Amino acid sequence: VALDKLLDIKGSIRVFSRIRPFKSAENWRNSLPISVETDKIKLKSLGSKKEFIVDRAFDQNSTQEDVYKEVQPIIKSAFDGHNVCVLAYGQTGTGKTYTMEGVRENPGIVLRAMEELFREITQEKCEKYTLTMSMLEVYMGNLKDLLALKQHPLRMDSANKSISIMARTSGTVEIEGLTDAEIMNFKQATRLYNKGRRARVTSSTNVNETSSRSHCLTRIIIRDGEKGKVVSKIWLVDLGGSERLLKTGALGQTLDEGKSINLSLSALGDVIAALKQKKHHIPYRNSKLTQLLSDSLGEGSRVVMIVHTSPSEDDLLETICTLTFAKRVR
Ligand code: ADP
Ligand code: MG
Repeated sequence: VALDKLLDIKGSIRVFSRIRPFKSAENWRNSLPISVETDKIKLKSLGSKKEFIVDRAFDQNSTQEDVYKEVQPIIKSAFDGHNVCVLAYGQTGTGKTYTMEGVRENPGIVLRAMEELFREITQEKCEKYTLTMSMLEVYMGNLKDLLALKQHPLRMDSANKSISIMARTSGTVEIEGLTDAEIMNFKQATRLYNKGRRARVTSSTNVNETSSRSHCLTRIIIRDGEKGKVVSKIWLVDLGGSERLLKTGALGQTLDEGKSINLSLSALGDVIAALKQKKHHIPYRNSKLTQLLSDSLGEGSRVVMIVHTSPSEDDLLETICTLTFAKRVR
């Protein structure tokens, strides 16, 4: 109840930040250029002026549980009919995938959310609801159905039917041609999720060995078991790397991939900023990403943007860009 009140007063977009731990190869002997307080990130080398306020700042010691605990009430609010979007933003290598997917021994938000949904359903809401799951990748403006792909490395796109985004006059969005698989229990959902993850496209740049120049979206739809009516949608999104193009030294295909990601991320920022300012026109149509999410970002929806930063002095400029984005959408 308290959170609900808070959200109504504050608007429905919450911005969290998370800083990843140092990697062994990084020069951590220099003191951390960033200090983290509960709701504040300070960039020390830039003086007291550079302070960024967020709704919750997670430091280097934050655990997957810590992060999920803050997201949990928002996931649960899907049962009250709120569409939910959890978006992981940040430069490649800052922990977006760690936060969303996690690792085998320490799962991230997606699996924790699924577990939660099944727990809720089986404990209280008994058979009243059904869940379905879809996974898709937005790569260079193209949509790829990650659950329809055959598990054959040389035939990655042979199984791709065309997917189209249909905006209904009611304001809802339907994605035609996208696999929407019923999930019956957590174990089966995990298996399906792993299948989708394996189908993701990655390629390498100078910044990181396998950096992702695509957005990976997992959607869970909660339907009323009797009427089959959609109760709400939950989008869990691992966004493409936000790094600017100069530093990566990208050329050709990689450069195009980067440009495409940058365009869609700024389109996302524009949409959230327009929603916040309660503008009459919300520029959803400027990217596939914002078209897909258009019924889950606006009124009645609950949005969490988790911005990720590196702890390293070397990445400070990117960190400033990321925190500036966070400031804009908050
Ligand atoms: P991104 O998806 O933003 O490119 P990753 O999630 O792949 O970044 O993270 C890069 C590396 O750092 C991975 O090896 C990941 O396991 C590790 N890492 C990221 N965040 C954390 C964290 N909070 N705790 C431990 N390891 C992390
Ligand atoms: Mg990643």
